[in-house]
Amino acid sequence: MKNAHILVVEDEQDIRDLISFQLKSEVHLVTAAESADKAVSVIERGDKIDLFIIDWMLPGSMNGLEFTKKLRAQKVYQETPVIMITALTQPENIVAGLDAGADDYITKPFDMNVLQARVRVQLRNFGSAPKTPEDLLTFGILSIQVSKCRVFVENEEITLTSTEFKILLLLAQKPGHVFTREQFINNIQGENIFVTGRTIDTHIAGLRKKLGSASNIIETIRGIGYRFKDVI
Ligand code: CA
Repeated sequence: MKNAHILVVEDEQDIRDLISFQLKSEVHLVTAAESADKAVSVIERGDKIDLFIIDWMLPGSMNGLEFTKKLRAQKVYQETPVIMITALTQPENIVAGLDAGADDYITKPFDMNVLQARVRVQLRNFGSAPKTPEDLLTFGILSIQVSKCRVFVENEEITLTSTEFKILLLLAQKPGHVFTREQFINNIQGENIFVTGRTIDTHIAGLRKKLGSASNIIETIRGIGYRFKDVI
């Protein structure tokens, strides 16, 4: 695997040094910045970043949330994984971070092994050939034939409603990404489909029931949303 270039934006020096040290030990290239302003200058000098780890509360002209929004507004960083670190543990704060464009979040204090595991998930497809959308997605005993809208668990086909299929596909195409209810609604709402936050929960419950022994691949994050675990 090619080394990923990770930009760590964190104003607390101890945490910044610890994260940098740990990730360098996994042979990643790590650049550290103590503010979003410094991070912007790293990007502006032309370094291509493969993953961002961004603390929410930062000194200077932009906090981590604003920096994430700024990244998402740039074409080159629309899809680059962002893990947000936050001391704000209320679901509404975390939802705001995810809605700003973060893929995942970690609350302080955190275990370095957890951070490393989350980084690995986010870099799952890093270094592989540029992606053409895959038609067959396989996760252990679960497989999804995207173009045919067919889903198999332990080689047995299961029948999903179109909304359940859309939810499953959204999750499966971005393992490790935490989706808020709002993001499900935005992605799924369409012709003849009207969904609310509560109906998302109902659809997920129905979907899990049908997934049977593969149901634990969808992780509930209380008060926040859902994440595809990638490992069954
Ligand atoms: Ca901070």
